[in-house]
This record gives sequence, structure tokens and C-alpha cells, in this order.
Amino acid sequence: MKRHKFPLVSPAVGTQRELVALTFGEPAEKKVYLQSSLHADEIPAMLVSVMLQQRFQELEKAGKIKGEITLVPVANPISLNQHLLGQFLGCFEMNTSRNFNRRFYPLGNLVSSIEPLLSNDSAGNLNLIRSALRENIDLEVPATEFDSLQMTLLKLACDADIVLDLHCSLEADVHIYTNTSGWRQIEPLARYLGSTTQLLGDEFEGGTFDETIGGFWNEIRNQCGVSKPISDGSVAATVELRGERDVSYAYARRDADAIVDYLTYQGVIEGDVKPLPPLLHPATLWDSREEYNAPHSGIVVYLSKVGTLVEEGDSLFDIVDPLDERTTTVKSRTRGVFYMRRAIRFATAGAEIGRVTGRPAV
Ligand SMILES: [Zn+2]
Repeated sequence: MKRHKFPLVSPAVGTQRELVALTFGEPAEKKVYLQSSLHADEIPAMLVSVMLQQRFQELEKAGKIKGEITLVPVANPISLNQHLLGQFLGCFEMNTSRNFNRRFYPLGNLVSSIEPLLSNDSAGNLNLIRSALRENIDLEVPATEFDSLQMTLLKLACDADIVLDLHCSLEADVHIYTNTSGWRQIEPLARYLGSTTQLLGDEFEGGTFDETIGGFWNEIRNQCGVSKPISDGSVAATVELRGERDVSYAYARRDADAIVDYLTYQGVIEGDVKPLPPLLHPATLWDSREEYNAPHSGIVVYLSKVGTLVEEGDSLFDIVDPLDERTTTVKSRTRGVFYMRRAIRFATAGAEIGRVTGRPAV
């Protein structure tokens, strides 16, 4: 295992943070990139990275890593110390309210300058594109600590074949976001993880990490057509490892085992490929999900568990008004998986409370 340190832009005199990346194996045909807790308060992902470090070190000593694996266990050192009145706030930079997982540098803007350089050699094109990505990212000079964090993460991941961004939700079962063209390669991961929800889309919420990387490869393939073939580039996914309080050794070991099984299936780790478990629910289209809001303020009482399949008309939650004898039951408008809900038990009027998956993707 090699440890690499990347200093971030110093935000104030006397202050300097760094990003730590661990690499296992040697550069070879395949590169895998994994990062945990870009939203710094999403700790289930961080504990999985601890388990993965142990597994990868054992596998490396046994000579069973057949490519290079880069692991960033703490992808957001900036907001690790953002606490307000006892609450850990890790998703947004408090000074600017920017979400750490939005508006990554738009790699898609580089397509027009790279496309003329390509030939009819697909493997050569792949190498050329990856070099161009690294060089263009190096040319950017980040002005802020926030920007330097995003650019460092992007540079570490941009030339990987498989990119997994490990997060968690509020209260949830395991679920995965990826783009439509990447689903074929991510589906085995969903099976090994026992993911109950797989959300496919080409645009999620404005420049997330996986969307930025997966979207670039979609765009360059679309522009180049058949005249300039390109070997498979990166497949990227965001993996939500349950809810923010689901921090346990049992879950973390299970998730790390599933990721190792997936990398074995992909040929990055040498070993017997485990049989693929069934996919628990089909992939669905992200933009057909249904969101459910509180019709008025009150106490939230959940009536459905996360990760369960609900039918149209099934009760999801009650909102109980403690001053006016009024209880409103919110029911599902569709058949789908109740895949996430807020970690609150009192709602303001109109607040989003939970989501149910929509139409199957195929
Ligand atoms: Zn997150």
C-alpha cells in the first residue's frame, strides 16, 4: 500500500488541509477508483473504506491485485470540522452553501478540443483521451480550498475504468445511481451489494461526481460516432450505503465483501468469481421517481419501511397535527420501492419526506 498526500489550497494563514489517497497493486490494464464520504457526515461509507483497506492490503500481499486500486477513505477533509450547535454538517461548505457533490469541473467542455485529435485506433484513442483529461485538469489553477478538493478528486479518478463514489442517505436501504450506458457494468455490483434500488439517468442533480465522469464518456462517444471508435472509458456510480446512522461493523464488512466480490468479477482481483445473486428490483429511471411532501406541519409517523416494495395506495407516513385533531396519511401514487426518507420526526408544511422509485428503465 502506498500513501499519497495532496495539499489543498490553504484557506487562511496558518491552516493547511490535505487529501490522502491509498493505492494498492500496480498500474496495469485496469484502474479502480473508490472514495468515501465526499459528504463528510456520511460515515457508513468511511467505515467501509476501513474494511476495504484491510482487505486490499491482504490481497496485495498475496499478489492478487491485478490492476491498480486507488482508495480515498476521507474524500472531504474540509467539512470534517463543520459543526454547528452539536450537529455535524458535512454536505455543504458553510461559508458559500455550496454542495460538495455538485458542479464539478465540467469535463464535457473538453470534448470539442479532444475530438479532432482522435484516429480510428480505439485503444490509442482511449490513452489519448485519458492523457488529455489529466493534462487539462492540471492546467486549472483552483482559487479556493473547495475547488482544489474537487479538482484533486477528479484528477485521481478521471483515468480509472471503474469509479465508485460511496455515500449514504438519510434513512435508506442500499441504492445506486449510475448513467444508462454504465448500468450493464454496474449491475453485478448491485447484485453483490443486495441493493434494493438502482436509479438510472444521464443528468441527476447538477454535476455530481459520478455524473461528471460518466457523462464525459457518453458525450465524447456521441460526438465521435463510429468513425473514431473509443474503447470502454470510465463507468461511474454513486453508491448510497443505507442511512446516516447505519454505522456498524456488520454492515461495513458486508459492503466491503460485496465490493471485493465485484472487483473479482471485473478481473481486478484474482480469485473465484462468486455466483451473482439475483437483482432484488429492476433498475428504474431517476426522473420518474415520486417525491412525497408533508401536506401540513406536524409529527411524522412512518408507516412503511425503507427498502420495501409499496403498491399504489399503500400508506407511507402520517402527519399528525398536535394542536388540531388532524392526521393526514400520505399514500404512494405508484408501485415502487420506498427507497429513502428523511431522518426527521417533525415536518414543516411542504417539507420533502420520502421517495418511491418510478418506471423500470427497460
Ligand atoms: Zn452524499
